[in-house]
Amino acid sequence: MHELSIAMSIVEMAEEESERRGGVQVNAIHLKLGLLAGVVKDALLFSYDVACEGTALEGSRLLIEEVPVVIYCPTCQAERTLKSIQRFCCSVCETPTPQVVEGQELGVVALEIAP
Ligand SMILES: [Zn+2]
Repeated sequence: MHELSIAMSIVEMAEEESERRGGVQVNAIHLKLGLLAGVVKDALLFSYDVACEGTALEGSRLLIEEVPVVIYCPTCQAERTLKSIQRFCCSVCETPTPQVVEGQELGVVALEIAP
């Protein structure tokens, strides 16, 4: 499963970071997930719990911030947020555009460390 390998690499990264800071307890991980990243949020949350089992991260939470898809419309010469990822068209003038500005990100933005 795709999400499980992503979850495992997140846990690994957090464990390394925790060790680097002298074995601090990580309470939560903040993740940015673009709607185009090809990752199912619920599957990733489930996989995270599985990946945490038996590690120093067990009991921590994964907090996912979903990033909407932003495209660039050549007609409006402006960035527009997509209403649906099924249709890559400008939300104002309906011009189809393949230029994605945002929405493909998948990455950890912050770790919450226990005080
Ligand atoms: Zn437009």
